[in-house]
Amino acid sequence: MSRVPFAVWRPLPENATQSHIKPTQVILHVSAGESTSLFPLWQVENLECHFYSPKVNKLEQYMDTFVMADANYLANRRADGTGAISVETQGLGAGTWNAKQQDDIVALMVWAHRTHGIPLQLCKSPSDPGIGWHIMWGSPGAWTPVSKECPGPDRIKQIPALIDRARDIVAGTQEDISIVDAATKTYLDNQFAGLKGTRGVDLTDVIGKVETTYNMVGTVKAAVVAAIAALPKPAGGVTATVDPQALATAVANEVAKRLAA
Ligand SMILES: [Zn+2]
Repeated sequence: MSRVPFAVWRPLPENATQSHIKPTQVILHVSAGESTSLFPLWQVENLECHFYSPKVNKLEQYMDTFVMADANYLANRRADGTGAISVETQGLGAGTWNAKQQDDIVALMVWAHRTHGIPLQLCKSPSDPGIGWHIMWGSPGAWTPVSKECPGPDRIKQIPALIDRARDIVAGTQEDISIVDAATKTYLDNQFAGLKGTRGVDLTDVIGKVETTYNMVGTVKAAVVAAIAALPKPAGGVTATVDPQALATAVANEVAKRLAA
């Protein structure tokens, strides 16, 4: 099973019935509509995508990435079992991805790289592993049987910079934006709840666990360390009796502040 921790999991019936793939590509689309979810549409259509990034609402996942989704024609599943992860996004043909959608796409690229080993580079051919967009090989072409404009000329221009951001995160020169999602906050709450009233627990161990789980780097890691360090500690100890909610809130605020800077 392969699900994204920062997406809402809304499995389609096809998730249980369609062939498996080895994902080697991420293909970007625009839905040519303003729906906040594609889940209702995929109930009545014989197509589906793995992910949907709305402009405001949280990223949705409809198919496990080890299962084929019908959005990319010949790239859905090739004879060798490899296939593409399809990412639909809210918007019309004209226009660009907003900041939230760009964050979703970057986070997905990083996740796909870490989970499936998908290279953070543009595909060099229709079957070459990497990142691409729906009409990259013509319209009609290898990835679409019909003529269309997807994801639109101005979004295609955004893609190289998004790949660069994903590379920077993987290289450790930029913070992992998945740190600010709800799952992260829940994780922090649970981690710190375990420390409440505990003495003799090294908080660096907690930081290590958060770092391992979320691959925190750079200023986000520094923010977490600073937020923990700023909390009141009992006399004579490097370890604290912490209020987990206060700590999680402090961390979240600190991270948000630094990401906004
Ligand atoms: Zn498309």
